[in-house]
Amino acid sequence: MVELDQLRALSARVGANPLLVQAAGGNTSLKVGGIMWIKASGTWLKDADSRDILVPLDHPAILAALAKDDPACESCTNFVRTDLNATGLRPSIETTVHALMPQRVVVHVHCVNTIAWAIRKDAEARLTEKLRDFTWAFIPYARPGLPLAGAISSRLRPGVDVLVLGNHGLVVAADTVGAAEALLSRVVTALARPARPAGPPDRDKLAKHCTGIPYEPATMDDTHALATDPLALKRGKSLVFYPDHVVFLGTGVATSFEGDPPLVAIPGAGVFIHKDAKPAIEPMGRCLADVMRRVEEADTLVSLSDVEIDRLVNWDAEKYRQSLKP
Ligand SMILES: [Zn+2]
Repeated sequence: MVELDQLRALSARVGANPLLVQAAGGNTSLKVGGIMWIKASGTWLKDADSRDILVPLDHPAILAALAKDDPACESCTNFVRTDLNATGLRPSIETTVHALMPQRVVVHVHCVNTIAWAIRKDAEARLTEKLRDFTWAFIPYARPGLPLAGAISSRLRPGVDVLVLGNHGLVVAADTVGAAEALLSRVVTALARPARPAGPPDRDKLAKHCTGIPYEPATMDDTHALATDPLALKRGKSLVFYPDHVVFLGTGVATSFEGDPPLVAIPGAGVFIHKDAKPAIEPMGRCLADVMRRVEEADTLVSLSDVEIDRLVNWDAEKYRQSLKP
């Protein structure tokens, strides 16, 4: 189907942009003839044109279940059209977000520029200025699955085609793939914030550290910024500002090798990645640096509470996503 191929191509383009999508984060969907095709849980959008990552779901059945707050909407696996699901994969853990949007094409990204606004205490007021030319809604933070679906339902109005998810990311929706990509581009431009320049990594110091330990320096200077930007580590190391941060990096960014953490930031020098770390670790470390370089010390931020973190990491659908091999 031409439209599905267009969605795959858009997904691969969006997935290849680290300022929009990191690792298995973000997802896209297309509704056609009562079927909603959505990215499979745990797969990477950038792979969309080289492997089959779309899962077909019965869209009216999801909407009927959402109307009843049916717990089956937590994973949406009951709504998979198994007769059409060639890969046997599960749908994205954010399927409910896509199902609720009436438009045919939905793109959800963990856009760094959006997150830098969406973690501020004054997020809704500041975004109201930035997005005055759009029909949009701000959705206060809620865990994906049924809680986020409820939060969206309570704020969705006719005509809304942009959602900013508090402490999470961005959703755009349109009736064609081309219109969705154009809308995404316009919103990201409206929300763009300059990144504070970060010093380069201290490669001599990193090389000395590497001897005899199962770690290698991060491959991108933008990841090293987590350790070389004076504010990034200070603000990001002990607080959690969005779901994929805690799911992949844990509650704190390690600054020593004790306990073999997947990522270690040596202040002023650079970032190390464990040789056995999942491929998602460096993109997630870079994302944290990219977000933190777009907020200033005087900005008041809102972090996730211990209860919110617990609900995320102990959610069954999230545990499944984490269990998948990349
Ligand atoms: Zn998300």
